Amino acid sequence: MTGIACRSCGSRHLELVLSLGETPLANALLTEQQLTQPEARFPLDLAFCPECALVQITETVPPEQLFSHYLYFTSFAETMLRHAEQLAKRVIETRGLGRDSLVIELASNDGYLLQFYQQAGVPVLGIEPAANIAEAARKRGINTLTKFFGTEVAEELHREGTLADVVHANNVLAHVSDLNGFVAGIAKVLKPDGVAIIEVPHVKPMVESLEFDTIYHEHLCYFSLIALQALFSRHGLTVVDVERLPIHGGSLQLHVGGSGAPSDAVCKLLEEEIAAGLDRVEFYAEFGSRVRELKGELRGLLADLKKDDARLAGYGASAKGSTLLNYCGIGRETLDFVVDRSTVKQGLYTPGTHLPILAPEVVQERRPDYLLLLAWNLTDEILEQQHAHRERGGRFIVPVPAPKVI
Ligand SMILES: [Zn+2]
Repeated sequence: MTGIACRSCGSRHLELVLSLGETPLANALLTEQQLTQPEARFPLDLAFCPECALVQITETVPPEQLFSHYLYFTSFAETMLRHAEQLAKRVIETRGLGRDSLVIELASNDGYLLQFYQQAGVPVLGIEPAANIAEAARKRGINTLTKFFGTEVAEELHREGTLADVVHANNVLAHVSDLNGFVAGIAKVLKPDGVAIIEVPHVKPMVESLEFDTIYHEHLCYFSLIALQALFSRHGLTVVDVERLPIHGGSLQLHVGGSGAPSDAVCKLLEEEIAAGLDRVEFYAEFGSRVRELKGELRGLLADLKKDDARLAGYGASAKGSTLLNYCGIGRETLDFVVDRSTVKQGLYTPGTHLPILAPEVVQERRPDYLLLLAWNLTDEILEQQHAHRERGGRFIVPVPAPKVI
């Protein structure tokens, strides 16, 4: 037990299921000058709450520290934009939204989603805490408040009669340290028949596919429907529908409202989660021991390759990669460098492990024998892009869910 209060129900009986050690912030890439300075490290421990079934990390890094390092990449991937456009179109149709409606998005970013409502003539309000990003949205004509959403902002909106037919919260709930304040705020700004559409990564595929490298300090919570239901019902909200989405390794899209009964899909997924054991600590404790085994296997594989004088590099200076390298203790003694397509990252160094980040073209010049895939979610794309590496006999190492050479 950790003695720390659960982020959802407040219980102090959290069970530690996996410790990834003290790691630097996954997105805190370093400049050359910073390599000689001490790096801030924080415990990265995953815990399960037996009271409400919420999986969470125990440490909350202050947002100022977490986001001061944040590199902001403007353009959203094409697939994300298509997903946003289809979502807006479907919601406008099914909810019959028009000029008298209001759609609010929490953590609205640069207006990537709200723009599609606005184009259809539906009034919108974005709420975005990052000033530079909120400004980018306003420049595109998207009405945006620069604020952290919570009960205070919700009460202000409520007082002035700004109530929403639809509230969107995409991939923000896992980042919120005051979960109850955030959800209470949603309940406050919804019209009586309004709906909140919330997307969160699902903990079930993370555990089943051993995607432990999606754990980092920015992700405070890892949700099951069981845990979400407990959280929402505490604030008078009901999960009325759920859909599984393939994005981010497996996500849930929830429809949450102040009234209505859970759909068949909700009941079915709850049954499935309970049958799989997502409400019990054993499910997560086993995940913890499988992750520890994976670390041993991966280290063993890399050590064998190094013994045969193989030259190794990494592909993808991602946050995932940071967790994987730091937890497994893979650094300069094993990898010569890491490549990444993002020009913003090139020239910097990976947190904790201090590997230089170079352009993908370097693979052709330096010709490593193996590339460790640190962005396994993009495996197909990377294999395609690096066909020259494969043609000359270069191989890839896929670390998750079990280390293998392809
Ligand atoms: Zn709890």
